[in-house]
Amino acid sequence: MTSSLLPTYARADIAFERGDGAWLTATNGERYLDFGGGIAVTSVGHSHPHLVQALIDQAQKVWHVSNLFQIPGGERLGKRLTEATFADLVFFCNSGAEANEAAIKMARKYHAAKGHPERYRIITFEGAFHGRTLATIAAGGQKKYLDGFGPKVDGFDQVPFDDLPALKAAIGPATAALMIEPIQGEGGLRVAPPEFLRALRALCAEHGLLLIFDEVQTGVGRTGRLYAYENSGVAPDIMSSAKGIAGGFPLGVCLATKEAASGMTLGVHGTTYGGNPLAMACGNAVLDIVLADGFLDNVRKVSLLLKQRLAELKDRHPAVIEEIRGEGLMTGLKTRVPNTDFAAAARAEHLLSIPAGDNVVRLLPPLVIGEAEALEAVRRLEAACLRCEAAMKATETAA
Ligand SMILES: *Cc1c(COP(=O)(O)O)cnc(C)c1O
Repeated sequence: MTSSLLPTYARADIAFERGDGAWLTATNGERYLDFGGGIAVTSVGHSHPHLVQALIDQAQKVWHVSNLFQIPGGERLGKRLTEATFADLVFFCNSGAEANEAAIKMARKYHAAKGHPERYRIITFEGAFHGRTLATIAAGGQKKYLDGFGPKVDGFDQVPFDDLPALKAAIGPATAALMIEPIQGEGGLRVAPPEFLRALRALCAEHGLLLIFDEVQTGVGRTGRLYAYENSGVAPDIMSSAKGIAGGFPLGVCLATKEAASGMTLGVHGTTYGGNPLAMACGNAVLDIVLADGFLDNVRKVSLLLKQRLAELKDRHPAVIEEIRGEGLMTGLKTRVPNTDFAAAARAEHLLSIPAGDNVVRLLPPLVIGEAEALEAVRRLEAACLRCEAAMKATETAA
């Protein structure tokens, strides 16, 4: 059967019809352990009863009203997010890219409203991923995403990751902000060292710049804290969050201090769907779970076990695994075989993972996994290593 969908994805030949916690069941009845989490989205697992109930309850009341009216669920979610973070104000939208667009617009507007519209440029970092809109592919700066889509949107300057001298040299009179992922996701789980983030904060103070953290992938408990910036002790002025924030219902949010948001006045930005009652119900339900006592402690505990066992796995299979990376339940294996081959071998063992840049395979399980699921994943990853080793032996023998 030919597909009517644009061929922009290399889809595996599996369709899932049910999910339960960290497990997915395919249409042929086979069960898979989901350590991809829909690319860090299914933060509280599939079919979490609290999320299902919240969605059904809201669906029976009202789905959508537009932002021309009060949305109590949004007021509540906004209040909870600001109470739990550095931020004073939030803007809801539908995706990570849109949250970053809001962050970029906010940073430019901040300077314009202060009488400096010439300060509109944003410095980003090599290996970054900020989304697929025209502005966010320019921010990400990756050739493979920019090619063929016309002139790159102006206003983004890119410097190497973790290179302070290059960053200092790039700051000029037109610079408005610095924008960084505390841990690069698509780029291959490169962790920005806390001292580097502290240096960014100091440079922002020195030059009157805004600091933007893209926590679309690292946020909502993924690293064992509600947001990854807490690990570094450095708070941004503006932050984007999406992916896991509503457990699979599309939702993005741009959070900011009152000062950073000072240019965002009546009528300057908007969205039709963003922050609608269904999304707000799901977002509030996810926070109920993630902010509950002990939840993040458990994420840290399970992730420590996972990391230890992965380090042992790497020692047993040095020809396949080169390095273990990441923080919390945002872990990556840098492999010596092509990462897509390794992910395919893991899938043959009914374990789902997500390839990333720099030949890394990401493990982004639901945050609700227990130790038993972590250990089961390592067993399946070991079987995947054995598959890769057998394939290497077979090609050696053939040669
Ligand atoms: C996924 C991702 C985005 C884009 O989010 P979409 O919802 O796909 O638009 C932006 N930034 C980071 C760090 C991401 O991981």
